[in-house]
Amino acid sequence: MKINIIGAGVAGLSAGCYLQMNGFDTEIFERHSTFGGLCTGWQRKGFTFDSGLQWLLGSGDSNPFYLLWSELADMGSIRFIHHDVRLEIELRDNTDIFGDKVFHIYSNLDRLEQYMLSIAPMDTAVIRKLIRTMRRIQSFEIPPMIREVPQLMPWYKKIRYAKYLPLLLFLNRVKRETNFTLAEKFKSPFLKEAFRMLFDGDELSMLIVTLPLAFNDLKGTGYPIGGSVGFVSKIEQRYLELGGKIRYSTEVEKILTENNHAKGVLLKTGETSLSDITISAADWNFTLFTALEGKYVNPVILSLKSQEKMKVYYSVFVVSLGVNSTFDGQSYIHRYPLAQPLVSPDGTQYEFIEVHFNNYDPTLAPEGKSVIYISFYTLRADYWIEARKANPEDYRLTKQKFAEKIIDLADEKVPGLKENIEVVDIATPATFERYTNNWKGSVQGWLPGKNLVAQSPVKSELPGLKDFYFVGHWSIPGGGLPVAVKSARDVAKIICHRNKVSFQIRSARNS
Ligand SMILES: Cc1cc2nc3c(=O)[nH]c(=O)nc-3n(C[C@H](O)[C@H](O)[C@H](O)COP(=O)(O)OP(=O)(O)OC[C@H]3O[C@@H](n4cnc5c(N)ncnc54)[C@H](O)[C@@H]3O)c2cc1C
Repeated sequence: MKINIIGAGVAGLSAGCYLQMNGFDTEIFERHSTFGGLCTGWQRKGFTFDSGLQWLLGSGDSNPFYLLWSELADMGSIRFIHHDVRLEIELRDNTDIFGDKVFHIYSNLDRLEQYMLSIAPMDTAVIRKLIRTMRRIQSFEIPPMIREVPQLMPWYKKIRYAKYLPLLLFLNRVKRETNFTLAEKFKSPFLKEAFRMLFDGDELSMLIVTLPLAFNDLKGTGYPIGGSVGFVSKIEQRYLELGGKIRYSTEVEKILTENNHAKGVLLKTGETSLSDITISAADWNFTLFTALEGKYVNPVILSLKSQEKMKVYYSVFVVSLGVNSTFDGQSYIHRYPLAQPLVSPDGTQYEFIEVHFNNYDPTLAPEGKSVIYISFYTLRADYWIEARKANPEDYRLTKQKFAEKIIDLADEKVPGLKENIEVVDIATPATFERYTNNWKGSVQGWLPGKNLVAQSPVKSELPGLKDFYFVGHWSIPGGGLPVAVKSARDVAKIICHRNKVSFQIRSARNS
C-alpha cells in the first residue's frame, strides 16, 4: 500500500518511520532542500546557527517521551546537556538581594527551593507550595498514556485511565495560577519583581514554567549536542534505512481527490504521484485551504482564520552571532533589563533582552569560538511577512537596522560582545514562514488556551475526506516536538488498525 507524506519535518519523518516499520510503502515530498522543517539550523562561514531545539522533552528515560524518541533514534548515541541554571533574570537597578540583581532559576528543585528560601524566608509557605506543585507533577506516572491512541482504546482500557483524572484535575487547578497572581503572594520585593518579569512583562500560566522545571529536575529536557540538525538527521537516517523515500526540493501544490477520497498529490512541477493514503505533515492553512481548496472544513475550522477561538503561537526574530570567544563563565540564558523599552518595527515592545550563550556545544563553532542567539518572540508576524512581500529591499534594511540596535543593546550588557562578532545572521518571522510554510511564521502551531486539554479543531482526519490524515504541531495546541512525534505515531497506529496490521515497533537500537 502506497502512502504519500507531505513534509520532512519531525512529524513527516516520524510518520514515515512508523509506517515503514509496519510494511507500508511511503514517500515523503519536501519543498525545502533538506529535512527538519522548523527543527533546523544553517551554516555561515564556519558557524552553525541552530536555535531550533533548545530542549527536547524526553531526552532522559525519566520522561515518557523518551520511549517514543527511542523508537526513532538511538538515544544512547546522543549526548544531552542538562544546564544547572535554566535561566537568569537580571532585575532592575532598584531591585536586588544582598547586592545581587540576578534571579537564578536552578534546574535542581532542592537547590531552587533552598536558594529561594535563603533570599526570602518570609515567603517560606509560598515557596514550599510552588516546589511541592512541581514535585507533585513529577509523582504522576504517565508512560502508558503516551503510547495510546484515544480513538482506538476499548472502553475497559479507558476505565483504567480514569486513575489519571486526579492528574488532570490537579493540573487544571494549577494552571489558573499566573506569574502575576503568584508575584502578588510574595512579600519579598525581589521575588515579586522576578516573577512579574518571568515572561518579559506578560501574564501567563505558571504551568508554562512548572511543567518543564519538574521534568528538567529529572533530566528529562536536555539539549542534544549537535543541535536540531544532529538530532533530526538520526530520524531521517532511520527512515531511509527502513526503506523510506524522500524527494527534496519537491513542492506539493494540491492534494488530489476523487469522490471525497484522497488519491495522491500534484507537484509544482506538474507531475502527479498517486497513493492509497495521503498524509499531510505540513502547515494547516496550506493543507486545508490551498492543497484541498477549502473543501473539507467545518464552521469551527473556518473560524480559526479569525483567531477568535484559538490564537496562533508566537513567531520569532532571531539574531544569531558567530563570535571569536567562548564567553566562558556566562550562564546558559541571561535576561537583561533595558533602560528604555525596545520597540520592534512590528510594534511589539520589549523590556528585556535575552542572550543565549551556546558555548556548550562545540560542534557549532570552530575551536575557541562560539554561537550566541538573541531572540524576540512576537505575535505580529504579519508585519514581517507583508513587509518582505511589499518591498524586499526595505524589509532587508529594516531587519538589519533592528538587528544592529539589538547588538548595540546587548553589547552594553555583555562586555566584549561587539568586538568579537565575526558573523551576523538574522531570521525574522518571514524567514520561518518562507522556509517552512508555517502560517504566520508560528514556531509551535497554536497557542495553548485556557483549557489545558483543549484539542485543535484541525484533527487527524478532516470532515468528509477519506484516505487522508493530518499530523504535526498544528494538531495539538502548544505544539513542539512532542506533539509532532505523538500525532505521527497515533496516525500510523490508526492506519495499521484500519488495514488490519498489528502495529509493530522496531526500536532504533535493535534495527
Ligand atoms: C527557534 C525555534 C526554537 C524551538 N525550540 C523548540 C524546543 O526547544 N523544543 C521543542 O519541542 N520545540 C521547539 N520548537 C518548535 C518545533 O521545532 C516545532 O514545533 C516542530 O519542529 C514542528 O514539526 P512539524 O514536523 O510538525 O512541522 P514543521 O517543522 O513545520 O515541518 C513541516 C514540513 O513540511 C514542509 N512543507 C510545507 N509545505 C509543503 C509543501 N507544499 N510541499 C512539500 N513540503 C512542504 C516544510 O518545508 C517543513 O519541512 C522551536 C522552533 C523554533 C523555530
